[in-house]
Amino acid sequence: MANRVVADNVPVWEAEAVPSGGAGYPRLTTTVDADVCVIGLGGSGLSCIAELMRAGSRESRHIVGLDAGKVGSGAAGRNGGLLLAGTAAFYHDAVRLFGHARARRLYELTIEQIAAIARETPDAVRRTGSLRIASSDEEQVDCLAHLHALRADGFPGEPYAGPEGTGLLVPTDCAFDPLGRLRMLACRAADRGAQLFERSPVTDIGAGEVVTGAGRVRCERVVVAVDGRLSRILPELRPRARDARLQMLATAPTTEISVSRPVYARWGYDYRQQLDSGSLMLGGFRDAGGEEEWTDDSTPSNVVQTRLEAFLREGLGVRAPITHRWAATVSYSATGLPVLEEVRPGVVATGAYSGTGNVVGALCGRAAARLALGERAEMADLLAVTAD
Ligand SMILES: Cc1cc2nc3c(=O)[nH]c(=O)nc-3n(C[C@H](O)[C@H](O)[C@H](O)COP(=O)(O)OP(=O)(O)OC[C@H]3O[C@@H](n4cnc5c(N)ncnc54)[C@H](O)[C@@H]3O)c2cc1C
Repeated sequence: MANRVVADNVPVWEAEAVPSGGAGYPRLTTTVDADVCVIGLGGSGLSCIAELMRAGSRESRHIVGLDAGKVGSGAAGRNGGLLLAGTAAFYHDAVRLFGHARARRLYELTIEQIAAIARETPDAVRRTGSLRIASSDEEQVDCLAHLHALRADGFPGEPYAGPEGTGLLVPTDCAFDPLGRLRMLACRAADRGAQLFERSPVTDIGAGEVVTGAGRVRCERVVVAVDGRLSRILPELRPRARDARLQMLATAPTTEISVSRPVYARWGYDYRQQLDSGSLMLGGFRDAGGEEEWTDDSTPSNVVQTRLEAFLREGLGVRAPITHRWAATVSYSATGLPVLEEVRPGVVATGAYSGTGNVVGALCGRAAARLALGERAEMADLLAVTAD
């Protein structure tokens, strides 16, 4: 890239997704009342709202959703578009780290959630399966251990050897258009009566109210469904949720390569997929940026973008021009498991998906809705227990 960082920082999904539909949603400039106020209109916030509306069919419930930017303007609309089962840890590692029963149930729930996402927004999802490709002999051994653990518990997985390399194939994983899905979910929520506001950054969450730059929401309960910069809204989570920058690039449509299903490699650091249009998307190399990638700055950096481009040209042999470069912020937890709990009276928080929040975030968003309604949520119970 001749040491130049593109200025626009726009994800390829803006070119792929259905248009947002007119001017979008208004800015909050007055005081409104709500039963539940959901902060964050990404995948977890909109899944939370969908669940609240579903639960609300029995009794009328007023829901307000707020976003600092636009629907999907955080990581949720700017990511790699992989829908992978499991948590951030590979399945065999999850069994070791979190206990067998807990890891197994979490994996089951994520497989079910991928199917739910595909049912909910079929136009945004491609049922492709995914490939984990080994980058070394050591990683190939780990892929076999990963595969063995999946099969031992009856989960789908097959050994893989093909043009991408060797590793394992998980047939139930999917690829999706994250921004397109979010726009569909927002539209549906608004049609069903949720009041959505964009360009309304939350500056304070007080007793019974949420304050934005120019307005406020008087509400009984609040859900904070924000992955990147979670601890800025809720500083008490700072020790548990650390911001990180993840980066990607995309090319013009190309036939130089055919990537029929999403691939993740090098211990999950690097990932790619090719869209129906032929555009190739490549993400990763966060480790190449070192400590500087632990930041809430969502601007693409030279170091990581240069590595991505080198891999595109030299590793994959693709010469197609690069059309998009972008970055976004996520949060990592120390345990690899997300935050999902009532952090203040009446305030439920979910986030810190450690780089893999498309599926777990949707699950946690729905569970956060249940917690906000004073109900139990299996996901919250699973995340709270100690390893068996
Ligand atoms: C480059 C990249 C690639 C990735 N690839 C994958 C992948 O392939 N598969 C996968 O599972 N995960 C992936 N992830 C992680 C995944 O994108 C995130 O974990 C997930 O999308 C988080 O969604 P969210 O709705 O919880 O939060 P976010 O999208 O982080 O936040 C939701 C919304 O909150 C809003 N917000 C923030 N602060 C405030 C405030 N103060 N007031 C009001 N609103 C606020 C933001 O504007 C945002 O729209 C990737 C992430 C990145 C950055």
